[in-house]
Amino acid sequence: MKKKIFFLLLTILLFIYLLWLGYHLLSFKTYRPPPKSFLSEVVGAYHLHSKYSDGRKNVEKIIKIAAGSALDFIILTDHGSPNYECLQSQGWKEGLLVLAGSELSVSRGHLVGLAFDEPSRPFSQNAEEAAKQIRRLKGFSIIAHPFSKAQWSWGKSVPYQGMEIISGDSMLKKNFLSSLPYLPALLLMPEYALIKMIDPPQQNLIKWDELNNDHSLYGYFSLDAHLLYKPLLSLLRLHLLLEKPLPPDFQTARREVFDALRKGKFYCAIEAAAEARGFRFWAKKREETSPMGKTLLLDSPVTLLVRAPFPFAKEIHLVHNGKTILRSHKRRMTFQTEQPGTYRVEVYLKEKTPLNKKAPWIISNPIFLREEKK
Ligand SMILES: [Zn+2]
Ligand SMILES: [Zn+2]
Repeated sequence: MKKKIFFLLLTILLFIYLLWLGYHLLSFKTYRPPPKSFLSEVVGAYHLHSKYSDGRKNVEKIIKIAAGSALDFIILTDHGSPNYECLQSQGWKEGLLVLAGSELSVSRGHLVGLAFDEPSRPFSQNAEEAAKQIRRLKGFSIIAHPFSKAQWSWGKSVPYQGMEIISGDSMLKKNFLSSLPYLPALLLMPEYALIKMIDPPQQNLIKWDELNNDHSLYGYFSLDAHLLYKPLLSLLRLHLLLEKPLPPDFQTARREVFDALRKGKFYCAIEAAAEARGFRFWAKKREETSPMGKTLLLDSPVTLLVRAPFPFAKEIHLVHNGKTILRSHKRRMTFQTEQPGTYRVEVYLKEKTPLNKKAPWIISNPIFLREEKK
């Protein structure tokens, strides 16, 4: 009899749990902006590992998955100093621009090098030296998962051009236990389970803002995918702003994507929570218009302009030197300033979203207003 009651209770509990999970999964709907053409917006995913290092799938399989995920480009970053096999896999494949760099293990942690000409000998294991070598070969470097050593390990002088703000892999490891109730969703609706694992990247944002007082560093949402390629590819994306759509010539297309990243002409989005296409942040000084990523000399007032992808359910924050100075629920925001410093934008989703309300859905790259050219 006792056994029967026990099993009955267990069944009821399981039923309630399934109802609860089902309710959450069914009530999740991603926002979609109206179908417009944003010809100059190119969307891709950055930081993927293949079987050329410790990834679970080979490059061909990853390309197949990415080509079916409505992406324009992917950037493979297998471990190595550099990883020559990974670099060799670049090209236009299945309509997808496949680019590659390498993730170097250096004295201060993991450093991603992109756009470099192939070196004749391995990169240095010293972080600063490796960054200089990458630059000499016309490339640039990005600090990967910056707090993976718990404390900031990258020193004060920062010869790097970017840092990761959200890292898919670090997030999975860190928040695995707290997202346990959503784990079955990994099979049913994996994007949902992954969105639930994202917490506000406060530590990285604070460090980024601090570094940008003296440097110009660009922020990246990084997959660091070793498995779960499909859901990760639709979770975190980079949106590049180019003058024209990507050209068919591989070398030109490669240069254009890497140049946009090198100049910070892009923003990052948690794309699975809502499609971000159409977001813009730019500056106007007199008659001159500048995209995000630019450094402007502050010799006359500058107007900063923001446009959100859709008019509802979001909050735009304008951040100046790490502090939110303006919030808006409208679709557009303008702000005139004569104050020097680093200006960037965060957009938060405010309704019916599984995304933590304090985690930014979109992060723009900064516009730097300097009193003298650095
Ligand atoms: Zn790493
Ligand atoms: Zn990695």
